[in-house]
Amino acid sequence: MRGPRSLLLGPARRCLRLLLLLGSRRRRLPLLRGLVQRWRYGKVCLRSLLYNSFGGSDTAVDAAFEPIYWLVDNVIRWCGVVFVVLVIVLTSSIVAIAYLCVLPLILRTYSVPRLCWHFFYSHWNLILIVFHYYQAITTPPGYPPQGRNDIATVSICKKCIYPKPARTHHCSICNRCVLKMDHHCPWLNNCVGHYNHRYFFSFCFFMTLGCVYCSYGSWDLFREAYAAIEKMKQLDKNKLQAVANQTYHQTPPPTFSFRERVTHKSLVYLWFLCSSVALALGALTVWHAVLISRGETSIERHINKKERHRLQAKGRVFRNHYNYGCLDNWKVFLGVDTGRHWLTRVLLPSSHLPHGNGMSWDPPPWVTAHSASVMAV
Ligand SMILES: [Zn+2]
Ligand SMILES: [Zn+2]
Repeated sequence: MRGPRSLLLGPARRCLRLLLLLGSRRRRLPLLRGLVQRWRYGKVCLRSLLYNSFGGSDTAVDAAFEPIYWLVDNVIRWCGVVFVVLVIVLTSSIVAIAYLCVLPLILRTYSVPRLCWHFFYSHWNLILIVFHYYQAITTPPGYPPQGRNDIATVSICKKCIYPKPARTHHCSICNRCVLKMDHHCPWLNNCVGHYNHRYFFSFCFFMTLGCVYCSYGSWDLFREAYAAIEKMKQLDKNKLQAVANQTYHQTPPPTFSFRERVTHKSLVYLWFLCSSVALALGALTVWHAVLISRGETSIERHINKKERHRLQAKGRVFRNHYNYGCLDNWKVFLGVDTGRHWLTRVLLPSSHLPHGNGMSWDPPPWVTAHSASVMAV
């Protein structure tokens, strides 16, 4: 049996041996060297696992915000379906009100030529809205081909790890690169890019036109309906008061029928909805028209603005290489060089390809000398 003395001596002896080991200069150096080597080896292993040649502070910030981006992207992706259904339901409700409430009223009051004009214009506008909306949501915006190395590229996408042609940007909601990306539109549940930019703009334009037409055309009907609703409220109030006071000794005065009530409320709804959409969408359409006139997309607007300020600070002038001049920008946008007159393309629905393939941005051959000089740096 070991005594208390041996129990104390054992650990003390071990401690002494460790101290002698650390204290010995000959033995301390290899120990420290081993520790340093292991530390370096661990660092190399960690770096090789996390190596990314595109890494930097931007990548670190992106990585830190990745959960928030993921949440926002998924919410927008989910909202996209809801928004598309909302557009279809609201547009259908306006068409239904026009047929069920407005048409019976104007049939009694409008002259035949006026009726014909309204009939043809409203249906032409409705066809264009439906056509361009359908095209905008179903036409893919255009994606750079993967695995091809014969295309002119300007950078590599950090997300896709594929070459990116000029004007191409990565959409985090679609999770892929989009040619000449303008923005991701939740109302279309689709990206607006090279192949559907015109459909998006045409939809905005004709929808604004339709809303202005509806709110302007139904102004008199709206005023009458609004006055009738106010009267309706007053009558209901008087009736309730009379019932409460028990002052009716005879039949109460007739109030509005159910159909009349629905018609008046529908007309007020139609006017308010169309006016609001006309204002909001009209502003957006004007903004996009300005961007198209400048040969910019919504994303390029921010990039070019930054670049303009950067060069301005250096005393240099920024030139947008895709700006061919206002008129030629519109010609390129409307695909005027594919055979048909631009007016025909604007007024009539058509399925056509825009100018170019969205990857190379050489100026079209018909760009005037003036436009060429605008493009020159
Ligand atoms: Zn990408
Ligand atoms: Zn997208």
